[in-house]
Amino acid sequence: MSAHTPTTPQSAVTVIGLGPMGRALAGAFLEAGVATTVWNRTPGRDRELVARGAVGAGSADEAVAASQLIVVCVVNYDAADSVLRRPEVTAALKGRTVVNLSADVPDRSREAAAWAAEHGIHYLDGAIMTPAPTIGTPDAVFLHSGPLELYREHKPVLDALGGSHSHLGEDIGRAAAYDIALLDIWWTAMTGYMHALAIARAEGISAQELAPFAKGIGAILPPAFDEAAVEVDNGTYTAKINPLTSAASTMTHIVHTSEAHGIDASVMRAAEGLTRRAIGLGHGGDELSRLAELLGRRA
Ligand code: NDP
Repeated sequence: MSAHTPTTPQSAVTVIGLGPMGRALAGAFLEAGVATTVWNRTPGRDRELVARGAVGAGSADEAVAASQLIVVCVVNYDAADSVLRRPEVTAALKGRTVVNLSADVPDRSREAAAWAAEHGIHYLDGAIMTPAPTIGTPDAVFLHSGPLELYREHKPVLDALGGSHSHLGEDIGRAAAYDIALLDIWWTAMTGYMHALAIARAEGISAQELAPFAKGIGAILPPAFDEAAVEVDNGTYTAKINPLTSAASTMTHIVHTSEAHGIDASVMRAAEGLTRRAIGLGHGGDELSRLAELLGRRA
């Protein structure tokens, strides 16, 4: 179902949390014709949504009581708990379904699911992998985990959010685990890009001059991801293209150039140190994928 396919008139949802993402979720539900009730800790953030037809609840328990499906999207699980575990809210949640789209670590999802089960609350966990402006468009990416039947029951309403929805398994922590692994890629890659822009600038190259070539680097990542994934799953690391000895050499060039300009090279030093450790252990002829195995080794 696309974001703009009207859902059945009886479908209803409550959205708890009206930061940029919560507002985008509520807006997409409204756009799809889902009866939407909203609540946020700080009042006033619902103004535009109410103008578009949302019901602005006066309290969190009132918001929860309005719908069978409650979508929670706040900064993290401490924030979610501080709302959902108020006695009057917990009581109102009994028999209803919470889909918690707030980001946090897998163990918090598992702990929250155990708490929900104790209180007769149906519970699904989720992660949103794309920025707020994608919500309601085909570009949105949602990951879900938890009981499959429960997911199937609420999928028609969740589809109003647009994009792709993947159920990753019944282990409630799985969506958060994917989220953490994927954000690991995002933050290290983007920090690497910021570092590259700092070096480029020190060398008299503007960010916009570098950007087209940076995109070229981005374009070669997807096949490299696939190749490394096969190597890591199969445990076959022997270099076909770029042995660790060669990789370490170019990493050292980056460290030297950074530090010659007084630019902090600690992220690249960490990568170089890890690579040299692998070489020291006799893996100099392996691909970079060897590092995943090395990092996963227990002392
Ligand atoms: P934030 O991560 O800044 O979260 C803001 C929301 O959290 C507000 O509703 C805020 O309420 C609420 N909040 C914070 N602390 C508390 C608390 N102690 N008790 C109750 N509510 C609290 O904004 P986003 O909306 O952007 O993100 C929400 C979630 O979505 C996060 O987990 C984020 O990682 C995830 N996400 C966001 C993306 C984005 O593009 N923005 C992309 C992908 C995921 P108040 O207004 O009262 O402060």
